[in-house]
Amino acid sequence: MRAVRVTKAGGPEVLEVADVDVPAPGPGEVLVEVAAAGVNYIDTYQREGIYPMPTPYTPGLEGAGRVTALGEGVSGVAAGDRIAWAETLGSYAEQVAVPWDKAVPVPDAVPDDVAVGSLLQGMTAHFLVNDTFPLSGGETVLVHAAAGGVGLLLTQLAAAKGARVIATTSSAEKAELARGAGAAEVIDYTRVDDLAAAVRELTGGEGVHAAFDSVGATTFDASLATLRKRGMLVLFGAASGPVPPVDPQRLNSAGSVFLTRPKLFDFVDTTAALRAKAAAVYSEVAAGRLDVRIGHRYPLEQARTAHEDLQGRRTTGKVLLLPS
Ligand code: NDP
Repeated sequence: MRAVRVTKAGGPEVLEVADVDVPAPGPGEVLVEVAAAGVNYIDTYQREGIYPMPTPYTPGLEGAGRVTALGEGVSGVAAGDRIAWAETLGSYAEQVAVPWDKAVPVPDAVPDDVAVGSLLQGMTAHFLVNDTFPLSGGETVLVHAAAGGVGLLLTQLAAAKGARVIATTSSAEKAELARGAGAAEVIDYTRVDDLAAAVRELTGGEGVHAAFDSVGATTFDASLATLRKRGMLVLFGAASGPVPPVDPQRLNSAGSVFLTRPKLFDFVDTTAALRAKAAAVYSEVAAGRLDVRIGHRYPLEQARTAHEDLQGRRTTGKVLLLPS
């Protein structure tokens, strides 16, 4: 079968397609024919070695497809069933062996591409506004990179909960998408000199209840400076690079604010929690309350271009690799 392989850490050029053996599903695993694999920012951190990986390996943690065979001891699923997953390395491939306890069933109403487009990024958006900084309505929040994969879903979920969303994006096209997702205000953060001042102005000087920051290095200081007293900086990614060490005294000076650096899989750390979170997202999708934008589809051979486009800020919404 064809699969993307990485033999050494590096730039997008280290992503190459090769012929490899079809994996045999081990105990507890199911073999899946991959209909669509998700491209996520974490794939680029792993490829670059920011998160060290043993080489060679097949990248990609996320996908959806049909089960073709069951490993020993697997029950509750049958060949032909549609499933999705978000924590199985080896997903940039025609087939992958997925631990059944890390998989979620996909409802009939949710097509494969949408199932991938709303799994890792949808669950992330969902845990941020329900579990990390639960929104109940009436808050003002800042969402960076609001036209991205997580960003569009986070903006929709926050707005649906009654929060006023101030979004940041880097272009007029992206601003339009963020508005369509429910952002009340959009700032082009590549064009303002003082981002924190621009956000504060939109809040009558008060600041935001929470800043959802996945950009990291270039936005962290502004995010901190936009918070109202006792607000929360939810730093959940580092698309522009990691944030340097922070002196806790800065949280005091900023108004007794909170800083958290959450990750999804500490919030969905059991099979039951994972399936409940996926089901919550999929039910929003199936009911038409959560619009999943598949921005880009690439064949497996163009994994390199997919990574270049994602890191080059040329994508919006979800980026998929299609093995066939
Ligand atoms: P996105 O589609 O959001 O792509 C990243 C976006 O970041 C770009 O489109 C760009 O939007 C913005 N950006 C700002 N500065 C830069 C820069 N210097 N280089 C590249 N991009 C930049 O990606 P994902 O939806 O896959 O992921 C979004 C973030 O969420 C990532 O940081 C990821 O690590 C994080 N994440 C965290 C999880 C967790 O559990 N903590 C789980 C899943 C994702 P613009 O052009 O508008 O600035």
